[in-house]
Amino acid sequence: MEREKKVCSALAPFGTTIFTEMTTLSNKEGAINLSQGFPDFDGPLEIRKAASKAIMRGPNQYCPSIGLPLLRSAVADKMKRFYDVNVVDPDTQITVTAGASEGLAATLLGLLEPGDEVILIEPCYDLYPAMIARAGAHAVYVSLARPAFALPKEELKTVIGKKTRAILINNPQNPCGKVFSSEELDWLGRLCNEQDVLLISDEVYEHLVYDGRSHVTLLSFPQFADRVIVISSTAKTFSMTGWKVGYVIASEILSEAVRMSHQFITFCTPGALQEAMAFAMNMDDNYYHTLLKEYSTKRDIFCNALSDIGFDVLWPEGTYYASIDIGAFDFFDDLSFCRYLVSHVGVAAIPASFFWNERREGRDLVRFCFCKKDETLKEAIRRLKNWKK
Ligand code: PMP
Ligand code: GLN
Repeated sequence: MEREKKVCSALAPFGTTIFTEMTTLSNKEGAINLSQGFPDFDGPLEIRKAASKAIMRGPNQYCPSIGLPLLRSAVADKMKRFYDVNVVDPDTQITVTAGASEGLAATLLGLLEPGDEVILIEPCYDLYPAMIARAGAHAVYVSLARPAFALPKEELKTVIGKKTRAILINNPQNPCGKVFSSEELDWLGRLCNEQDVLLISDEVYEHLVYDGRSHVTLLSFPQFADRVIVISSTAKTFSMTGWKVGYVIASEILSEAVRMSHQFITFCTPGALQEAMAFAMNMDDNYYHTLLKEYSTKRDIFCNALSDIGFDVLWPEGTYYASIDIGAFDFFDDLSFCRYLVSHVGVAAIPASFFWNERREGRDLVRFCFCKKDETLKEAIRRLKNWKK
């Protein structure tokens, strides 16, 4: 008898991602897409020129699985320049991956044993529970305490135990825009030290931290750096989400595990794009300042406009997402609100409950991305205003 052709049991419960669902719906309805987080503009021309030059010059063959030395050393330089972190040996401690997505997958698949537990801090990105499940491990959820989205320390102390292999955080955090304080990061590191647990930190929004605060990478705490794995990406920083150039930084021994799975997932990431991203990372401070300034202005204008319309707005401390509380609206939940919005108002957003395991916990929040041209945001606001009237 032929075996049933179906998705494996670990992944089947996750279905198609909400990002695909909402972008597809948005395209079908011809709406303004403020759902899936990607800019409606391309990153700097010089970076694209560097990539085309590398493609025309070649070689266009497999490059080293761990990534081009040029990019790995640019990552090490960037860690020193922005965070004063010394990556002692880029040859053994930095691995280039196909975006942060593959970096996360390679980390989880390379390090977890079946039956391990990984603590996730909700709201959390959908890839984490899916890859944990595929590794045969179990996600244990704790929620940031609303309204301030504070780290739930007492709960963390209760759930951490012998089976815990890692705690995975996202800082700055998608979707609520929380930026963890140094005190919270230090507390997490000390907890992991006491319990001999790994600390995985997804830092893809590292350059989007507002209000004069700076990003603090988990690698900047020497007292627990040997148990930290930092995953980041060039997608947001250089507005090139489609290129999928990311990286993982960890001790030599942890990097070995990441590389073991990375070599069997993608083996390597396109060399020309790596070369261009090495050029991008080495751009002067002015690039990074301008990026932050522009996003800071977009955040202020967009959030103020949402407030003026009458929405209850959750201002982000970091990332390029802003959420509204829809508790006062007469909709069954955030998904029905978003479905209505995309087809009747012409604006697509993300129902934030998809970032919680128990969806009812986030059903009052709807996320918009503001990584869009000013005129796109203006038109979205105009439509929302008309509807709200
Ligand atoms: N982590 C988080 C929190 C994200 O929001 C995203 C989406 N951009 C990723 C990882 C994936 O990053 P990349 O596009 O580099 O794979
Ligand atoms: N990170 C993006 C978001 O949160 C989604 C990326 C994706 O669709 N995989 O909107």
